[in-house]
Amino acid sequence: MDRTRLHALLNRESAEAERRNPRSRAAYARADHLFGRVPMTWMNKTAGGFPRYLAGARGARVTDADGHEYLDFCLGDTGAMAGHSPAAVTEAVHLRYARLGGATAMLPTEDAEWVGAELTRRFGLARWSFSLTATDANRWAIRLARAVTGRPKILVNSYCYHGSVDESLIVTGPDGTGTARPGNVGAPCDVTLTSRVAEFNDLAGLERELAHGDVAAVLMEPALTNIGIVLPEPGYLEGVRELTRRYGTLLINDETHTFSAGPGGCTAAWDLEPDLLTIGKAIGGGIPAGAYGLSAELADRLLTRTDLDLVDMGGVGGTLAGNALSVAATRATLEHVLTDEAFARMGVLAERFEAGVLAGIGAHRLPWSVSRLGARTEYRFTSPAPRNGTESAQAADPELEDFLHLYLANRGILLTPFHNMALMCPDTTAADVDTHTEVFAAALAELAG
Ligand code: PMP
Repeated sequence: MDRTRLHALLNRESAEAERRNPRSRAAYARADHLFGRVPMTWMNKTAGGFPRYLAGARGARVTDADGHEYLDFCLGDTGAMAGHSPAAVTEAVHLRYARLGGATAMLPTEDAEWVGAELTRRFGLARWSFSLTATDANRWAIRLARAVTGRPKILVNSYCYHGSVDESLIVTGPDGTGTARPGNVGAPCDVTLTSRVAEFNDLAGLERELAHGDVAAVLMEPALTNIGIVLPEPGYLEGVRELTRRYGTLLINDETHTFSAGPGGCTAAWDLEPDLLTIGKAIGGGIPAGAYGLSAELADRLLTRTDLDLVDMGGVGGTLAGNALSVAATRATLEHVLTDEAFARMGVLAERFEAGVLAGIGAHRLPWSVSRLGARTEYRFTSPAPRNGTESAQAADPELEDFLHLYLANRGILLTPFHNMALMCPDTTAADVDTHTEVFAAALAELAG
């Protein structure tokens, strides 16, 4: 990679982004009352120095404040995997909020049992409870796991992401032991007091940590998706299940992103048997919703414990969790939008996307790799594909990533910030994918000079 050339191209694309987006730039400049000028500080993670402001979005298309339309492969980093404002969810939300009325009343609706049964059909876990975010689903699953095992620690994979969960902000240091993830904001205590860590795809490392006998649960994605996609090697997930059982540790699968693997995520696609499962983002069709599932046996053990306050202020739950609006949106999403056959179509499109990226990489003999997880594809600036989070973190190239994001955005294509990730939704078309293939090839040709 000619860095001087990359630098010049990045400057050219940044200037073009400024020229194309005067309204977004002005809105950002005016946002004096927002912490970091944005509604949420991570919105500053955008190539080009300012975010595009949203005007509207429908299906696989987003329009910004300057009137540009984008093919959206970001899809709200999975929150809009159902497509933006799909008709069935729009109708369900309108019915619940406007026609019947009552978004949140501290009373259940029958939609919740429908959703619970559907989640059981898809993921296998017998009992379900709701949250508004995947982060909270993880927090509560962790608390339940500690309560039921009486053990203090949680084990995660290095460079995992499970939301802003204190216990998960640990990575393996150079000497192989756990250490705080760099940049951790205001940690409540030394993370090694609450957590253990192992590299993904490393069963020996996992066993070494579990052998201490103090791990309540392994919280993991069946494939890492937040440091590129890192796929499990043959036998790894079976090994995780065998070791967790042997050492009396519960297994929590976080399917928030790996849901892209199919209607029942990786858990169904690969016949996994977690004790708990967490999910959020996509299931609400854009309305905040999350859920966690647990086995009937675990649920019974928890519900019969008289020392646990599961009803009031015991640390599990939130006032708006399971509210009527979120649950209605989740039902509509699962019943009508992210259906079994929608996933089949999305998977085929992601294969097409992957083939297009591979063709571009091959044409320029770049040492890059592509990984796919059902409807989700990601390219990484290293080959072969990384085997664990630490390897993948080392392959990061922020400048190159910014160039590709800006080049694509300036030509009407959105990828997920933080990643080179593309997700298909039920409204994505083969023509959309081919447009990406063409623009990506043009970007690589410019890089090659
Ligand atoms: N789990 C995984 C695997 C995630 O990727 C994320 C967010 N990217 C979360 C949990 C947290 O989701 P939220 O920010 O909606 O709480």
